[in-house]
Amino acid sequence: MRCPFCRNPDSRVVDSRETSEGDAIRRRRSCSECGRRFTTVEEMSLSVVKRSGVHEPFSRAKVISGVRKACQGRPVDEDALALLAARVEDSIRAGGNPEIPADEVGLAILEPLRELDVVAYLRFASVYRAFESLADFEAEITALRASTPPSSPGEHASARSEHDTGPPERLVRSR
Ligand SMILES: [Zn+2]
Repeated sequence: MRCPFCRNPDSRVVDSRETSEGDAIRRRRSCSECGRRFTTVEEMSLSVVKRSGVHEPFSRAKVISGVRKACQGRPVDEDALALLAARVEDSIRAGGNPEIPADEVGLAILEPLRELDVVAYLRFASVYRAFESLADFEAEITALRASTPPSSPGEHASARSEHDTGPPERLVRSR
């Protein structure tokens, strides 16, 4: 590591500590030539291996742009997208593998996206898992229904019977 002030290639470490998240090491260095101090940060490099075998650095921006399309017209703001991308990166880093297949990035997106917005999740999953038919959507929606608690249908039903003139029978039954 060259000194950023005088370009001297030699420096000594005067302090070394992990960042609070424990995923990087920050080193305070002193240049042996000019004596000035600078900091280096060492973190595990994370690369994504595409199907073609090409490696590229993991990018939160790419996660966000991929998810943003699925969120069009949904009440999901930029902060929520940034948070989602950070969660995706955390979960991938927690896996401890420095090289991850692109598929696994998609997989790591699914869970936090499902918590964020189910419609965006369905859109994303339909592309990521290459849904080909209505049956694929049906299966996914069934799984979603099973994993999300029902929004207390009992209360709704009683409120409706008192105050609603009521939808046609046909519609009621279709649920
Ligand atoms: Zn120097």
